Order: sequence, then C-alpha cells, then structure tokens
Amino acid sequence: MEPSVKAWMTGDPVALAADVSALEALELMVDRSIRHLPVVDGERRVIGVVTLDDLRAALPGPLGLRTPVAPAQRSAALEWTVADVMTHAPLTVAEEAGLADAAERMAEARVGCLPVVTADGGLAGMLTETDLLHALATLLWTQSCRAPRDKEPLDALVTELRMERDRLARRLEEGPRSLDGPARRRLAALERALERAGRSALGACERCGGRIALARLRALPGTTLCVRCARTGEA
Ligand SMILES: [Zn+2]
Repeated sequence: MEPSVKAWMTGDPVALAADVSALEALELMVDRSIRHLPVVDGERRVIGVVTLDDLRAALPGPLGLRTPVAPAQRSAALEWTVADVMTHAPLTVAEEAGLADAAERMAEARVGCLPVVTADGGLAGMLTETDLLHALATLLWTQSCRAPRDKEPLDALVTELRMERDRLARRLEEGPRSLDGPARRRLAALERALERAGRSALGACERCGGRIALARLRALPGTTLCVRCARTGEA
C-alpha cells in the first residue's frame, strides 16, 4: 500500500493571518526553528505560504533562524505584512494523496513544503522536506530489513505464533467454555497474523508501509499498524 501524505505530514501546524506583520512571521520562525508558515483566511483555508526566503528577499541584511533579528530588520519587518511577502495561492496537496506524488510535485515546483488540505480546503498539515527525509529513512530501513538475511527473525516468529495457535486451539477444544474469552481473542489474533504471514504481509504496517517491531507483533499478533501509526490513529 502506498504511504499517504496524511501519515507523514506535520499535523496541526502553526498558521498566520495575512494581515499580521512580517516581524511576527519572522519571530515565529526563529522561535520554532521552522522556515515555512502557512497563511490562512478566517475559515482556516490556505491562501498563502510565507518562507524564510521570502523574508530574506524583503528585509535588509543577513537573516537566519539562528541569528538574532537586527534592529534595522525589526523596523523593516514591521512595515511589511505577511500578505506583502507571501506566495499567494500556493501549490497544495490533499491529505489522502500519495506521498510519492507529493514528493514529485515538490521537486518539480522546487518548493520546500506543501500545505496539506482537507476535502473542504481547510489546513490539515504541512508536508516539508524534513518529513520526506523521515519517510525516505523508514523506506530504506524497511527495504534493508526485507533482505534475506533479516527474514529469519520474522520466519522464527511465524513458527512461534503457529505453535501457539495450535496449542491454544487444542486447549480450547478440551477446556471448559467459561474460561475461554481472552484465549479465543488471542487465537483470533494469531489466525489473523498467520493469514497475513501467508501472503507475506506480516510485519509491514498497512498505513505507512514501515516495519512493525517483532516485539509488538509478538504482543499483538493481530495488529496491522506500526507503533507510530497506531499512536497517530489514537490522537
Ligand atoms: Zn506505520
């Protein structure tokens, strides 16, 4: 399954109104160490993006996230509003879009971020180059884990789960019915895991395509999500 933008974006981003001063944007960037801020209207629909590069072009002197704002920059930044310096009607991406598609669009347009929007155009998150690097690292890691030398621990786990399934199935056939609620749930989870193993899907997260830790699979054999995606689902 292709990883989605939603699974990798930075959710709940700080956003600015277009009429605030460029100084406010600059201070927010320095404060949070971020170089792209979405600009929204009163209904939190994306109308622009303001970047550190936009501010660099508008303000005098060198500007960086780790350099203090000089007095001349401060007064100049007070004269500009965000609307004066931002990119209007920026390229956006739907939260359900595929990550590969979004990355390609960023590369083609040479932008460092894409505001992520919901079906009704509201701001859902920001997809940045850093988010893409996290996705790339996970992907490369997953690929190396799928190489033959690392298949053994997963094979061993499948054997272990199969033995537990057989043991549990026998116990449930023989034992008293009143005690078997949790055991039956565990058995169902084991069956799901073995079914996924049968089609080589065990150990891969259904949402992000990343790897599910063996310890997690042992504890929750029926799970189809990695820890990261399971946490995102709860939030
Ligand atoms: Zn995941």
